Amino acid sequence: MSGYIATIGLETHIQLNTKTKAFCACRADSRNDPPNSNICPICTGQPGALPSPNAEMVRKAVRLCLAVHADINKISYFDRKNYLYADMPNGYQVTQNDRPIGAGGFLDVEMEEGRTVRVHIDNLHMEEDAGKTKNENGFRLIDLNRSGVPLVEMVTRPDLHSAEEAAAYLVQLRRLIRWIDVSEGNMEMAQLRCDVNVSVAPEGTAHPGRKCEIKNINSIDAVRKAIGFEIERQIRELEAGRSIEQWTIEWDNDAKELRKMRSKENNVDYRFFRDPNLMPVVISEEMLEAIRNDMPELPWERRKRFMNEYGLPAYDAALLTADRETSDYFEETLKAGKANPKQVSNWMMNEILRLMNDNGTCAQKLTIRPKGLAEIIALVESETVSPAVGKQLVDMVQSSGKKPAELVREQNLAMLNDDGKIRGICQRIIDEHPKEAETYRTGKETLIGWFTGQVMRETKGKADAKLTGQILKELLNAQPVNEKG
Ligand SMILES: [Zn+2]
Repeated sequence: MSGYIATIGLETHIQLNTKTKAFCACRADSRNDPPNSNICPICTGQPGALPSPNAEMVRKAVRLCLAVHADINKISYFDRKNYLYADMPNGYQVTQNDRPIGAGGFLDVEMEEGRTVRVHIDNLHMEEDAGKTKNENGFRLIDLNRSGVPLVEMVTRPDLHSAEEAAAYLVQLRRLIRWIDVSEGNMEMAQLRCDVNVSVAPEGTAHPGRKCEIKNINSIDAVRKAIGFEIERQIRELEAGRSIEQWTIEWDNDAKELRKMRSKENNVDYRFFRDPNLMPVVISEEMLEAIRNDMPELPWERRKRFMNEYGLPAYDAALLTADRETSDYFEETLKAGKANPKQVSNWMMNEILRLMNDNGTCAQKLTIRPKGLAEIIALVESETVSPAVGKQLVDMVQSSGKKPAELVREQNLAMLNDDGKIRGICQRIIDEHPKEAETYRTGKETLIGWFTGQVMRETKGKADAKLTGQILKELLNAQPVNEKG
């Protein structure tokens, strides 16, 4: 796309993980409930029903504002945005229009090449979600369970310039909202949704070009693809000498393609006005202080600390702070034992992340706890067990829930470092493989690894690898007996 510059802004809807909905006492999380079972007169828009704001929603919104360095408006308002949707029974959505809870701020996004993109935030506002509509067998079915679920909409300035940057921004945002526990941030479950504004212009022109909006993107991968396609489409139009029309485009996740929804109506009149049923949201200094004090160490702060305090390489620190549970697990393991940080980091990256992947779970839910991992590392460091057995122990503790030392005793896993025993096994393996032994002697010394592997297999990984290597070399290098004398 040389010769052109893309300008991208994102509007994300973040579903807050509050217990109840934004303005009533209905449960917010309906994922396991039948349609229309978490509803009441307020969230179904019955005449005369009186909403009242959920304090937890306000606290979580403020928490998010603080994490992205936004200014908090001490007084903000709820407004009605009037439009008609079948799944929005009020005929309006309660949102914050001209005086939102948060304004300004930024989120720094680290790209893989090590470059940082600072994405400025225009504003953060609270609003309620609509219900869901689905078409089935010629019927239009409405489920209002989601109606009134609290959202924060976070709007960026157009600071992004490629599909990769937009995807990285979303990854960073998702990590943050989970980390500070304001949202589950699952895009597939629509807990994090994003609309993207894309415009393309020839490089060097002052105006970023006319923008198109892509709606309904429901995964990071789709964000990357949809933006990539849209940039290409706009370049094709410009190359053909046509001007870009202001469209609203829908991402079709099944077909993996973009579809035009409508030409964007400019200045839709939503007839915003203050919701007369809702009082202004007032954030007191005490409340702000309490939320500040309750804020956990943020992911980028912790990453830096891991590098400074523990001397971890940038790669390790980034991987270990991908989510809060994993970074907690690392520190708890470190504190539970005497191993050095890099050792613990290696065990985390090789064994614990593997277990998390295999089991599709987070560190918090693993059966093996930091204390167990610390014990295993100590057993390996003290040469009570071999490193290979240490790895097996991780799986054994995970599947049995037993203590590592108990397993070592029960299953006789202690390191085999009896010179005589190992020598016997080595000799037998050499005798059984005369061809390999001969090849070794003619100079292919890398075969020592193969022989060591055989001994390890024989001893179920228990043999002292260093001692085994020494004995094997000794035996292999010994002059073969000339049978004819
Ligand atoms: Zn309700």
